[in-house]
Order: sequence, then C-alpha cells, then structure tokens
Amino acid sequence: PYVDPEAGAAVKAADRAHVFHSWSAQGLIDPLAVAGAEGAYFWDYDGNRYLDFTSGLVFTNIGYQHPVVVAAIQEQAGKLATFAPAFAIEARSEAARLIAARTPGDLDKIFFTNGGAEAVENAVRMARVHTGRTKVLSAYRSYHGATSTAINLTGDPRRWASDTGSAGVVRFWAPFLYRSPFYATTEAEECARALQHLEDTLAFEGPSTVAAVVLETIPGTAGIMPPPPGYLAGVREICDRYGIVFVLDEVMAGFGRTGAWFAADHDGVVPDLMTFAKGVNSGYVPLGGVAINAEIAATFETRPYPGGLTYSGHPLACAAAVATLGVMEDEKTVENAAHLGEHVLGPGLRELAGRHPSVGEVRGLGAFWALELVRDRETREPLVPYNATGEANAPMAAFGAACRKNGLWPFINMNRTHVVPACTLTEAEAKEGLAVLDEALFVADEHTVE
Ligand code: PLP
Repeated sequence: PYVDPEAGAAVKAADRAHVFHSWSAQGLIDPLAVAGAEGAYFWDYDGNRYLDFTSGLVFTNIGYQHPVVVAAIQEQAGKLATFAPAFAIEARSEAARLIAARTPGDLDKIFFTNGGAEAVENAVRMARVHTGRTKVLSAYRSYHGATSTAINLTGDPRRWASDTGSAGVVRFWAPFLYRSPFYATTEAEECARALQHLEDTLAFEGPSTVAAVVLETIPGTAGIMPPPPGYLAGVREICDRYGIVFVLDEVMAGFGRTGAWFAADHDGVVPDLMTFAKGVNSGYVPLGGVAINAEIAATFETRPYPGGLTYSGHPLACAAAVATLGVMEDEKTVENAAHLGEHVLGPGLRELAGRHPSVGEVRGLGAFWALELVRDRETREPLVPYNATGEANAPMAAFGAACRKNGLWPFINMNRTHVVPACTLTEAEAKEGLAVLDEALFVADEHTVE
C-alpha cells in the first residue's frame, strides 16, 4: 500500500484553505485526500485502498487510468492540444463519427459540450427554437445538471435553492412502481396510469405550448428506476401526436452503464435529441454533447444555431472519447456490464435482500443498481426520511462508514445505496464488494422494525 501521510496532509490543507466544493457547507466537510487510482480502485495517502462502487460520479465506466486512453490523451496533447470549435479537427470529427455510429436511429449529428448540464441546456434550446414553443416538461424524480435550465428541470431537492419558478418548466410524475404515485400494483398498471397522467398534464398545460418532454431513460441519481415496458414508447407516441420534441437524457445511463450502448436500446425507442457525457470518455477530460435527429438538424441547415461554447469538441476530450470507445469495443465493456448485471450483481444483490430486512427493493441492470433501504419492508418506510440531514440521516451515515471501514467506497443518496462500479469490474471484484455490502447492511438492519 501507498503511504505518505505528510504529502496527504499538505494536499488536504490546501484543499481546506482554497477549494470551494460542490453542494457543500464548506466548513462541515472533510474530503478524503486521494493519492491515486487504477481500474476499479483508488487509494489515499494513509495506506487505505477502496473499491470504488461509485465510479466517481458514475462516470469512470472503463475504470481509472486506462493506459490506452491515457496514451491517446498524451499523443493528442503532443499533436494539437487545443483548437477553436469552428474548424474541422481530426479528433473531433472521429469522435462525432464514432458516437453517431452508436446512437440509435437517425441521431447522426453531434453537438459537443463540456458536460451533462450544458448538453441538457442545449437540447432544450434546440427544442425551443425548432418548435417555436417555450415550455418544457420533466419528471419529479430526476437530475439533469446544475446550470439554470438543467437545475430547473431537475426534480430532486438540489433544485430548491435555484428554483425561480420562471424557467418554463412543468414537472410531472414518471413511473416508479415501488413508490407508485398512481397507487398501481403492477408494472402494466403503473405504465398505463403514468402515460394517462402525462396526457392529462399536457391537456391542461396546452400541448401547443410545450417544446419538449425531457426524461432520463432510466432515472439515475433519483433512484435507478427502469421504466415499465411500454412507457418510453408511450411517451414517444404522445410527443409525436403533439409535435413535442422528445429528449432522452443518457448522461448517466449511456455508454455501457446498463449493459447496452444506450439505455434506450433496451426499449428500441428513438428520441429526437439525446444528451450524453460521463461514460463517453469515462470523464478523463470533460466532455458531453447532444445527438440530434435528422429533422431537428434540418432546422439548422440554413438557419444559424443560436448557441456555442469555446471548448465545444475540445481535441483532448475528443481524443479521449475516440480511445475510450475503442477500448470498450476491444475489451467488450458493454457486454461485461450486461454479464455483471445478469449473472453477478443482480443475483448477488437479490441474495443480500433475502438476508437483510433493511433492503426493501433491489432494482437495476448492467452496472447500474439501487438498493432501497427501509425501516419496514411492509410499509416501505424509508430508512431515513426524504432529504434527511444530521441526526435524522444517522442510519445511512453509519451504513456508509461501515462500507468505507472495510474498503468499499459506496454511493449513497437519501435512503438508497447505488451499486455503480466501473463497467469493466471483474467477477472477483464484484464479489469482494458484495461481501462488504453484506457486512455493512447489518448496521442498517439495526434500524429496522423487524
Ligand atoms: N443528466 C444526468 C442524468 C446526470 O446524471 C447528470 C449528472 O450526474 C447531469 C445531467 C449533469 O451532468 P454534469 O454534472 O456533467 O453537468
């Protein structure tokens, strides 16, 4: 193990003095000083190594420090480290070609951004200009990013502080059978009622005022809820009927995470616009984008697109994407994620649910899983209340600490832990992580009524 506590202390001291962290009360956080990372693991300066079940923020789909991608970035830096977006650049052209070859249907034009929020901002801008309408519909259980429009589209409480009520966003309930907003008891019922609810929302909002419906194909941070069969096809049909642009946000679910190139592939649904980021190059250099269908692309053939970014299609980021997509083909990363889901993580997590009364539901696919932790499996009362902090959140904090103590870095959001490791995870690594989760769940079990 790597040990250099003095170096770690210096890194930590400068961080605490000068780095202003996301989403945090700056005086109340204690960020771990990280010395290095490789594959599915990272380590600190004190000799502790962690199996990363978070993939950072669910973006290192090929794991850390993949030598092929690192070399490609180095090579691109030596050749052409940067260049303005208005020119045709080899790495950018090639990245766009490779992405368009994988996106479904006629989503063949790529607008590059630096990340997911900018992708969502630009998808909404495209939809508004294309339709001449302003309103946008999104789901309550969602996360779309932290810039102005993206945070307003977001349903989770991170929106509240930025919600001016003026972004032209209307939120609705997407399906989620375990906590059904529609009192449904079957997937088919949930699907039908969720579609009717969207129809009703549109009827009262006025369909002719709505530019776009924006949905995560599988909501990620909000709880990894694969939609019931037929839901996405139903939304597609509703959007077609009213001339509304259908935007699928695949920032988290895309590029192998679900055991397919895109989560939409599982349903065979083709949106009008698809946003991506994260897994496109495993986050080695910031990159995101919007894949655009033929009809919307045609709108901007002779009319200028009113949007742009200094670093749109940055050569280093694009070179990293080209290399990442190559690695994913060569190493069958997407197939590995599918195998993990079907044969290792899925069965392993369901086994944990059988043993631990704190596990209310296991759901997901590929390398994209959520455990819903509850106080009471009968009533489904969450282990901690919605958006709990401090003492009220203590059971989840204790669960997290138990994972870290045994060398697993868990993803925790409210009353859930998400199992979102690298899509390149081996079976042995998966089993190592499952064993730590098993131990830590006994801590959660202490807070149940059973
Ligand atoms: N959309 C989804 C579905 C996400 O999960 C995220 C980030 O987690 C975003 C958009 C925002 O991406 P970024 O943080 O790169 O702006």
